[in-house]
Amino acid sequence: MRSFNFFRRLSRAFNDYPSLSKIIVVSTISGGSLIAYPEANTYNGSQGHIAHADATASDGGHALSEVAPKKKKVVLLGTGWAGMSFLKNLNNPTYEVEVVSPRNFFVFTPLLPSVTCGKVEARSIAEPIRNIIIKKNVDISFSEAECVKIDPQNKKIYCRATIDSHSKGEEEFAVDYDYLIIAVGAQVNTFNTPGVMENCHFLKEIDDAQKIRKNVIESFEKASLPCLSEEERKKILHFVIVGGGPTGVEFAAELHDFVNEDVVKLYPKVKDLVKITLLEATDHILNMFDKRITNFAENKFGRDGIDVKLGSMVTGINENEISTKARSNGKTTSTPYGMVLWSTGIGPRPLIKEFMKQIGQGNRRALATDEWLRVEGFDNIYALGDCATINQRKVMEDIAEIFKKSRQGQLRNTYGQGISRNP
Ligand SMILES: Cc1cc2nc3c(=O)[nH]c(=O)nc-3n(C[C@H](O)[C@H](O)[C@H](O)COP(=O)(O)OP(=O)(O)OC[C@H]3O[C@@H](n4cnc5c(N)ncnc54)[C@H](O)[C@@H]3O)c2cc1C
Repeated sequence: MRSFNFFRRLSRAFNDYPSLSKIIVVSTISGGSLIAYPEANTYNGSQGHIAHADATASDGGHALSEVAPKKKKVVLLGTGWAGMSFLKNLNNPTYEVEVVSPRNFFVFTPLLPSVTCGKVEARSIAEPIRNIIIKKNVDISFSEAECVKIDPQNKKIYCRATIDSHSKGEEEFAVDYDYLIIAVGAQVNTFNTPGVMENCHFLKEIDDAQKIRKNVIESFEKASLPCLSEEERKKILHFVIVGGGPTGVEFAAELHDFVNEDVVKLYPKVKDLVKITLLEATDHILNMFDKRITNFAENKFGRDGIDVKLGSMVTGINENEISTKARSNGKTTSTPYGMVLWSTGIGPRPLIKEFMKQIGQGNRRALATDEWLRVEGFDNIYALGDCATINQRKVMEDIAEIFKKSRQGQLRNTYGQGISRNP
């Protein structure tokens, strides 16, 4: 999401310059913001298709016939933040667009934690992709499928349908592209910690949030059964969150609110047995933000009774217990739990790992692109969002270049052009 301005820029580049021919970019010294100027703008949005006037042989070259050029095919992988930002800003009908994604809706992820405890309904944070497509004046089709392989040499992707199909084999298909936009996001990162996949919840998709919601309610129902000991009830109502990033912190806060606003009324007998523990391997939660935010969150959680254990590395999880190791003294502890949410960050999807290997980026954690979001080494493959990382040129390099040109007198009468970058 931080890169949304880039997504918009990428879409605008497609809108304004179908040929994506030479673009001169000025990098402002202040912050590296970019302004793109076309060398020649061939597209007139109001005209729709660009008509070519050809002289025909039969009339001696006087009559004109209109021939619509073949549309360039843009294939977009993914219907998340990055993919939808690109699509929403793509208004140029001279492209044919095919969207491939296993999810036929967009999810507003910031509200996912609110779905876990019932504050927000799942359907209110999802937007069907076909509702978005239908409003566009662009030729767009959608296939509910996942891309399983990218073949950049032949400009082709291979896909597998993700909806149930009874006829084996028919659900696989290939799609040709002129431009490929990779926006497949990332997957949860377990750091290969034993037992995580089998025993933990994750919070990335609507399904995840709904599973958590069901589990939370079931935990309270189970803990209210008359046949259990107090120790068993405490175990069931021990909610552990692994990872003190935004997702883990937001879930902890939602759960705390749920317990204090709803559980006290709905399950008064067990309300005092609830425990929320937040395990963080580093020295602070929300450590990617300003120190003041970190301090505020840690103090607030302390007052709210959320047990924040800093410097606590999870080493394994079985059906009943979660094992941790203290970074300070190496001491290991095993604690019974009822439910664990694993939210320790993201890693590349198998498709991206495989593609990175194919193109010599195998040692990276995300697809490297240039500042125009083009995958390094390719003119027609773009990557954006959580699956990609931008190799920004350093502003200092631009400044050095400006001074060099200035010394050579090349900036005279070319004010505003500064440095040319060819996308
Ligand atoms: C609970 C939660 C809260 C968040 N809150 C914030 C916030 O407040 N602010 C913020 O900036 N960020 C937030 N984020 C992060 C933000 O959601 C991500 O950075 C963002 O979703 C990344 O967008 P994306 O399009 O790269 O990936 P995604 O949004 O994950 O979309 C990826 C898309 O690709 C599809 N896909 C997957 N595999 C394939 C395949 N093989 N072929 C084709 N398509 C495929 C998926 O189905 C999906 O449609 C939050 C994340 C979560 C989980």
